[in-house]
Amino acid sequence: METNYQRVTQLHLTYLENIVGPERLSTGKSNLELHSHDESHHRAVEPEVVIWPVSAQEVSEILKFSNQNRIPVTAWGAGSSLEGNPIPVKRGIVLDFTQMNRILEIREQDFQADVEPGVIYKDLNQKLRHKGLFFPPDPGAAATIGGMIANNASGTRALRYGATRDNVLRLKVIMADGEMIEVGTRASKTSSGYRLLDLFVGSEGTLGVVVEATIRLRGLPQEFSAAVVSFPEVGDAARAVFEMLKGGLEPAALELLDAETARLFKEDSGIEAPVSPLLLIEFHGPTTSYTSELVEMAREIAEGCGAEVFRSGIGRQERDNLWKTRHSLAEIIKRVNVGRKALSTDVAVPISSFPEMVAFASDEVRKAGLPGYVFCHAGNGNIHVVMMGREGDQAEWASIWELSNKLVKQAVSLGGTCSGEHGIGIGKRKYMAEEHGRSVAWMRKIKDLFDPNHILNPQKVLP
Ligand SMILES: Cc1cc2nc3c(=O)[nH]c(=O)nc-3n(C[C@H](O)[C@H](O)[C@H](O)COP(=O)(O)OP(=O)(O)OC[C@H]3O[C@@H](n4cnc5c(N)ncnc54)[C@H](O)[C@@H]3O)c2cc1C
Repeated sequence: METNYQRVTQLHLTYLENIVGPERLSTGKSNLELHSHDESHHRAVEPEVVIWPVSAQEVSEILKFSNQNRIPVTAWGAGSSLEGNPIPVKRGIVLDFTQMNRILEIREQDFQADVEPGVIYKDLNQKLRHKGLFFPPDPGAAATIGGMIANNASGTRALRYGATRDNVLRLKVIMADGEMIEVGTRASKTSSGYRLLDLFVGSEGTLGVVVEATIRLRGLPQEFSAAVVSFPEVGDAARAVFEMLKGGLEPAALELLDAETARLFKEDSGIEAPVSPLLLIEFHGPTTSYTSELVEMAREIAEGCGAEVFRSGIGRQERDNLWKTRHSLAEIIKRVNVGRKALSTDVAVPISSFPEMVAFASDEVRKAGLPGYVFCHAGNGNIHVVMMGREGDQAEWASIWELSNKLVKQAVSLGGTCSGEHGIGIGKRKYMAEEHGRSVAWMRKIKDLFDPNHILNPQKVLP
């Protein structure tokens, strides 16, 4: 359905200003520009107005008005997405949640917190540290809980603690017509009714706008053991990942870097490691003897797969540095490739196909002959290939797009997905039919039911 959206008029602005006051609404050039792009290569589009709500009531009134007037509304967290997810392609209103950022309640006994969507997960974890708790999903960037829920973000710890979806229990959502509903429960398990909560998680703000979430917390691990392991070939490292999981080891993190990424990782972190494919492994547990035993088992498996160097016994400071650098890889890659833009792929495959998929990806990067980096949330079979193309160089970008298409086709043919964690946004819509077949038509029916006028984050997710 092609919707005829209305442009935002002075009359509209006056009405909206009555809801939030003049200081939390802006049509200023710099604010529009700031909300025109995320961290992806996708084309920037400026909204017509940016609004900073501070309550569910305000969000409800804004959506009701926008729905009646067919004005597009796109929710905004920190704008750190990698697929154009929050770019307001049909302009209209951007709802920026950064001022709706209160931690409403921490219930230590229940391992739960109620938060507003604009809370930055890193800030939350700083507060929780003193209570011996943490919220595990860790996308690395300074993302908001609302943006993480909408993208179903994850990261290095998803292997043990799950993605955001697995750590959200209950949501308050404002629907397109302004009605507020609550979905989910504070109980840790439920068999009650259709699970609407799961429709909102990962929907990228296209079905409703989250104004409050009850999230699941975990106890901070008492002890950890980390190891850095090098392999002659990326395929050997991928095989070791498969063997470790098959052997029943349950690492908290299991990350793979190809040799080129390992070189940047080593230079930036100063961590002692050869410039060859690396596995970064971490185990969590109640005692050091428990985690050390797991590391020794991992050593045996890794050496059986051809590991050349196995460094364990890493102290807390070096380990913190290791994960800080791992989380900064995308930025480090951009820094060393001045004048180029990044395209990041995000395919994921069943773990048995992971070695084949990694070998395929590395081979394609080599054939493309452009700066390219392969790094993976290996334990989840989730592979990022970051390709760097010169801005405006059509030939380079044609080969980057071709590579990206090939990776998605290969992943889907192996029973996998075009997106393990970044979401569909603008960039992956074209793969939805290939991956989901006839169920895309049912996704459309859900969209039509929840948002009949298609005002919520238009032209995202569905092709
Ligand atoms: C350096 C770097 C590393 C990254 N690493 C990872 C990684 O390891 N794993 C990973 O998963 N991601 C990663 N990302 C991507 C990104 O950080 C995540 O997708 C994150 O969840 C986006 O959160 P945000 O607050 O920036 O949301 P935004 O980008 O602002 O928005 C994301 C989506 O959520 C919607 N939205 C925002 N708030 C709401 C709300 N209240 N209600 C409904 N919809 C809403 C938006 O409309 C949009 O569709 C990385 C990004 C960068 C820049």
